[in-house]
Amino acid sequence: MAGIYIHIPFCRRKCHYCNFFSLASQKLKEPFLAALKKEIVSTREYLGGEPVNTIYFGGGTPSVYRPGELQEVFTSPPDPSPEGEGGSVSRDRMEITLELNPDDVTEAYVAELKKTWFNRFSLGVQSFDDEDLLYLNRSHSAGQAVAAVKRLQEAGYENISIDLIYGIPGAGNGRWLRNLETAFSLGVPHISAYALTVESNTPLAWMISRKKSAPVSDEAQVEQFRILMEQARQNGFQQYEISNFCKPGWHAIHNTNYWNGVPYLGLGPSAHSYNGSSRRWNVSSLSKYIGGIDKGECIYEEEVLTDIQKYNEYVMTSLRTMWGCNLGKINYELRITNYELIGKRAAAFVQQGWLTENSGVYFLTDEGKLFADRIAGELFL
Ligand code: SF4
Repeated sequence: MAGIYIHIPFCRRKCHYCNFFSLASQKLKEPFLAALKKEIVSTREYLGGEPVNTIYFGGGTPSVYRPGELQEVFTSPPDPSPEGEGGSVSRDRMEITLELNPDDVTEAYVAELKKTWFNRFSLGVQSFDDEDLLYLNRSHSAGQAVAAVKRLQEAGYENISIDLIYGIPGAGNGRWLRNLETAFSLGVPHISAYALTVESNTPLAWMISRKKSAPVSDEAQVEQFRILMEQARQNGFQQYEISNFCKPGWHAIHNTNYWNGVPYLGLGPSAHSYNGSSRRWNVSSLSKYIGGIDKGECIYEEEVLTDIQKYNEYVMTSLRTMWGCNLGKINYELRITNYELIGKRAAAFVQQGWLTENSGVYFLTDEGKLFADRIAGELFL
């Protein structure tokens, strides 16, 4: 199986913390879609014939387009999987996710959605508190976020995910707890929650450096991460990846495939691809992307992965999941022969209480989840 990720590089305005590749100007909306359709055709061989079972429209803000416009990317020209529409997987068994900004989810928008094959929605809520939303420079209100979820549910959609951000300066544990209570009360089966990160060259970094905002507090983020894990457990959610929580059976197949090393094709500027032996990343410039595709030029860079790189990536991603990091797979599938050395290093973290081990599979403990990158780094070859 394989997945397709499509990066829509437009937003209505830029959020203060964001360093994703996206533009507030939508001048090139039409040329971009035309280029995207050409890229789908020209890159179809990258997945080597694997049937596609997930498609993910992310960004940016895909909902700057009408749902029908996005769907048409696949119906004309045909689906990129080699066996035609959806490869060997029928549409109704595919997971097709659309990221939505809450203020775009109007009644008219949902009515149009119902005519398309999108069947999973990821809502960029970030917070159910208007003060937080103002601080982050989000384009929607808390009321619009709640209304968007309810509108999708009333239209019969169940597979809805909410994105939340914790550790916002000035928000405090009480506000974070209220955010989580609202999220769980809405009855969505999936929540992704991320600590606010201060990326360089963002308005947030500028605000903090000019003392126009309090700095982000590590202690507050740790406390709020602990509250998140506890609340998720109490509400029957599994933490299937450090930042991703779901009711049993409702994990995101597309994202889980990334962590399990399943191949994927990334389309659009700045999108990444992986096919088991190489990684590609498209140029992070919309004009170069469109111009390159029009001229039939290469718009990506590519790196062929060594066994060691594959191993390091496997450790980094698998440790973060509830399925853990498997020494047997490291030995037999990734062909790493000195796996005993890795076992010895991992055993030190077991003693420390940051990992547990079961039949050669290592899992992060709650405490270990606070140090996931450091632990993975120690296990790298
Ligand atoms: S909507 Fe998403 S991609 Fe767009 S600016 Fe905000 S965080 Fe970035």
